[in-house]
Amino acid sequence: MYDLVLKGKFLKGRKLIDGSIGVLDGKISRISTGELKGEETVRIGRGKVILPGLIDVHVHLRDFRQRSKETIRTGTMSALHGGITAVFDMPNTDPPVLDSSTFRRREAAFSGRAYTDYALSFLLNGNCDEAKKAQADFYKIFMGASTGGIFSSDFESDYFCAPGIVSVHAEDAGLIQKKPERPPEAEITAIKRALKAAEKFRKPLNICHVSTGGGISSILRASLPWVSFEVTPHHLFLTKKDYERNPLLKVYPPLRAEEHRRALWENFSRIPIIASDHAPHTPEDKENGAAGIPGLETEVALLLDAVNRGMLELQDIVEKMHGNPVRIFGIRNKGLEAGKDADFTVVDLKKEWMVKPEEFYTKAKWSPWEGRKLRGKVVMTVLRGNVVMEEDEIIGNPQGGRVDAGKGRA
Ligand SMILES: [Zn+2]
Repeated sequence: MYDLVLKGKFLKGRKLIDGSIGVLDGKISRISTGELKGEETVRIGRGKVILPGLIDVHVHLRDFRQRSKETIRTGTMSALHGGITAVFDMPNTDPPVLDSSTFRRREAAFSGRAYTDYALSFLLNGNCDEAKKAQADFYKIFMGASTGGIFSSDFESDYFCAPGIVSVHAEDAGLIQKKPERPPEAEITAIKRALKAAEKFRKPLNICHVSTGGGISSILRASLPWVSFEVTPHHLFLTKKDYERNPLLKVYPPLRAEEHRRALWENFSRIPIIASDHAPHTPEDKENGAAGIPGLETEVALLLDAVNRGMLELQDIVEKMHGNPVRIFGIRNKGLEAGKDADFTVVDLKKEWMVKPEEFYTKAKWSPWEGRKLRGKVVMTVLRGNVVMEEDEIIGNPQGGRVDAGKGRA
């Protein structure tokens, strides 16, 4: 007898299977094409599909001294609402996570407040001794300044001494200073420099939010198995023209000309990770030029809408927001197989809805897609065997825990 049985259609690899998933003690116990008996059975109706719990490897949850922008609580509620079961927290907070005692404070802040599971990061800038003490799940390096203003004075040495996988914001500091509009060259130059270092050091490197044709082609050409990268939904679905109409769309790296957006789509099958770079600000901060776009509550729906338009397949979402994040960041307790956490994202591909950011859980009550009708929606989120979001409602108390990832990696 299982604690919970999810019955319905689910995606396993490339196959859509009709069957049951048995959950015991929060873990997947059995995946079957037949009937399983549970104390509780959740039937997933027609037109809906059970996906493994989707993971967002790039979010800014603010909190600390920036609770007016977002808190761990509102940010992770927003994630559950959008169908995300684990988030990767970025360290350019106020104060930034630059030493092991701030890292411990961050860990404590998540405990009991996070609605999703989470991975914690550490910001590298000449502080590898502290990084080793912190034992983060991943390490962040800014090659040029972004929100928070801190960037690495020596990228190569920070990357070389990082105790685990590095996520890098690749925009060249010198070029940004000369050209504050951050042209494509700022990103491409930095990516090439990062690739050169990766070739030399052969250590895990994840390049964040690639937005340019030259950037993605350089990475693909280098083809280094230990180098991965992310693309954001806003760079896939918006361009510079949208920014010219709406100054709220200021973001680093900036929205690009159509040719760059097209280059991302032309290489879509080779993009390993899609992540939101969810970056909430208060309306006042946005008015004063803060860069960042909230995305946790729209990213999966935008991709489902694109599935309906024939631009990608449902399994692409699973690959780029579950399978690859699990593999690349070495998350040991996630995956759609017996023994792993019973996390699921249930989607309704046919459901039409309108983006109304005033109904979102994030404190950033705006969205680039406000008023847009989308076809496809997340209708349920399950975290370790508990239904924690259904039909836009968050259910129960925060139950998130730290993922088992990357720790102790040399
Ligand atoms: Zn970011």
